[in-house]
Amino acid sequence: MAGRCAAGRRRRPPPPPPPPPGRRGGATTPPPPRRPAPAFVLDIDGVLLRGGATIRRAPDAVRLLYGAADGAPTHPLLFLTNGGGVTEAARAAALSDRLGVRVQASQVVLSHTPLAAMAVAEAAAAAKAAAATATAAADASAAAAAPPTPPTSVLVIGGRGCADVAAGYGFRNVLAAADAARVAPSVAPFSPPRRGEPLERPDAEAVAALPVGTVLVMHDSTDWGRDIQLVVDALLAPPPPAPTHAPAVPADAADGAQRVQVVACNADLTFPADHPAPRLATGAFTTALAAVYAAATGGRRRLALTRLGKPHGVQYALAAGRLEAQRVALRLPAPTPAIYAVGDNPASDVAGANGAGGVWRSVLVRAGNWGGGGAANDPVHPAHHVVDDVYDAISLGLDAH
Ligand SMILES: [Mg+2]
Repeated sequence: MAGRCAAGRRRRPPPPPPPPPGRRGGATTPPPPRRPAPAFVLDIDGVLLRGGATIRRAPDAVRLLYGAADGAPTHPLLFLTNGGGVTEAARAAALSDRLGVRVQASQVVLSHTPLAAMAVAEAAAAAKAAAATATAAADASAAAAAPPTPPTSVLVIGGRGCADVAAGYGFRNVLAAADAARVAPSVAPFSPPRRGEPLERPDAEAVAALPVGTVLVMHDSTDWGRDIQLVVDALLAPPPPAPTHAPAVPADAADGAQRVQVVACNADLTFPADHPAPRLATGAFTTALAAVYAAATGGRRRLALTRLGKPHGVQYALAAGRLEAQRVALRLPAPTPAIYAVGDNPASDVAGANGAGGVWRSVLVRAGNWGGGGAANDPVHPAHHVVDDVYDAISLGLDAH
């Protein structure tokens, strides 16, 4: 159900943080009972920032959720964006500067933040497989032991720095797309590497010799032609240990399974930037990649993607867990009565919050991607509330509880 929040409505001050338990006059003073407080999940681009500018009233809006005394939030608060390409700590520091509040890295969920858990799971699986191989080899029936799994690389699509972020999450044998072209310029004949430009990863030459096992489309491609070529090469390469860039027979032709996992971290087709009209985003790149892959296989193959980012449930499960941890740290009563998810993109912000269900409440702002065109709500993904900007969105949530 849509609802407008009038500009200039009453500002409800956030509840004060509880005093620390202590002894006064020889008796223990219990903290006063607190009432349940809503949580807030804010999109960044189009809600707080637009290109290089901070959206009007955004800093004032976020400060509604911060206490004056210690500069800490008074409500569970996350910044949930389909942006990325940097570490959560770097994005938190930049947000702190722009908004004038203290944002912790744990309050930032980027499109690729779930990769950290994926890297941990893959490392655990690899360790388990290695242990099983060692045990079998030590057995008297060593002849029956399975051969060790050959190493593969993780090809990272995104601007400079993305490969380091992936390595920071715990992935091994990380290869930046630009490094693949620097090591073997013939791979992308129309995108010669710039002379003298250093490698992003010092082990790029050795890693580029490995077959690609995983592709991470972490952020916007800086060279669609080069990167689509690299990913299609990986998808069409025969299974290891054959050369990675051998002439192509679909590796998945035999059993229908796609050997190379492709993780797409952001499905957004566009994003609001400095240009008057929205610009193509990472979702546009994966759309083009899927079309080229289908054509390259004569229409026999359809690209299978592991999807992260809004509106997918993995993002909302991660966000809900972080908000619950904040609620406990703030000593707020359970359960949280509502989670207000504020965004400007109906297909990601609104669809994601609506899909999460439960106490999630979608709030669509007119400030960014969605102008509305005079409509009261989005016809495809209607939000619970439609307001002008993030200040009205936060005021709406505070006033309701
Ligand atoms: Mg947005």
